[in-house]
Amino acid sequence: MHIGILSRNRNLYSTRRLIEAAEQRGHTVRVIDTLRCYMSIASHRPSMHYKGQEVEAFDAIIPRIGASVTFYGCAVLRQFEMMNTYVLNDSVAITRSRDKLRSLQLLSRKGLGLPVTGFAHSPDDIPDLIKMAKGAPLVIKLLEGTQGIGVVLAETQQAAESVIQAFMGMKANIMVQEYIKEAKGADIRCLVIGEKVVATMKRQAAEGEFRSNLHRGGTASVIRITPEERSTAVRAAKAMGLGVAGVDLLRSNHGPVIMEVNSSPGLQGIESATSKDIAGLIVAHIEKNAAQAQKAPPKPKG
Ligand code: ADP
Ligand code: MG
Repeated sequence: MHIGILSRNRNLYSTRRLIEAAEQRGHTVRVIDTLRCYMSIASHRPSMHYKGQEVEAFDAIIPRIGASVTFYGCAVLRQFEMMNTYVLNDSVAITRSRDKLRSLQLLSRKGLGLPVTGFAHSPDDIPDLIKMAKGAPLVIKLLEGTQGIGVVLAETQQAAESVIQAFMGMKANIMVQEYIKEAKGADIRCLVIGEKVVATMKRQAAEGEFRSNLHRGGTASVIRITPEERSTAVRAAKAMGLGVAGVDLLRSNHGPVIMEVNSSPGLQGIESATSKDIAGLIVAHIEKNAAQAQKAPPKPKG
């Protein structure tokens, strides 16, 4: 196969590993910088251009779209979808996953475990919003944050009220969430490929910190998960429409609750924690699914 990787930088660990894995399995790979793709939207013959030339046909596209370029990146990916190219994760699913509120709404419909989460517009509704999230301490979250930035723990009712007021005053979109204290600063990353959890790791927040993100000083280790956690992760990826996803769970008193579902999960942390060839498994998934997609091209989604 000829595989295209949409990535801003071919030297990033995940991109490098995907190139390596694809080449090892006998495929050719081209990395294209998402922001240098431009497109012609014409009836019958949509096309993609790159640095002055029309791009060749790809059998599959692996999107690695950073959170800061979601809008443009998804437009590029959608163009490939319109050209009937198989994509590992489609643009609609990636767009969904980038909005924490939209994601939780979709997951709630499937009856999956979630921290109780509230969303409101008017400052008049703040007291009720705080009650919904089971009172302080509670978590306040920007809808489009990543790497733990934009997640705040408000320890008291007063702190919660003033922080929510401040965010609302700034017109920032936030949600208010029940604090899962019993998770003790740990979460579980489940790497889902297709309908399987292929790797798991526990991330423990640094001392004095509640956010377990590796970017915030969290540390990774291996962990075994329960069948309930496994099925929650698989169902979450499916509800989001993602073929490959990093599903983050917290262990709460009322079972596993989903934190978020990542559509471009980083490979470095999980490959080094588990010593598994995740990039190879992703390429194997593409081999299986791109061939099927070509036999029966899916209707392009908008
Ligand atoms: P980001 O997209 O920035 O990673 P998350 O929603 O995943 O945002 O939150 C970052 C981290 O903060 C989580 O991995 C978890 O460790 C901690 N955290 C977030 N929400 C809660 C919560 N409701 N209860 C306990 N810990 C939380
Ligand atoms: Mg997270």
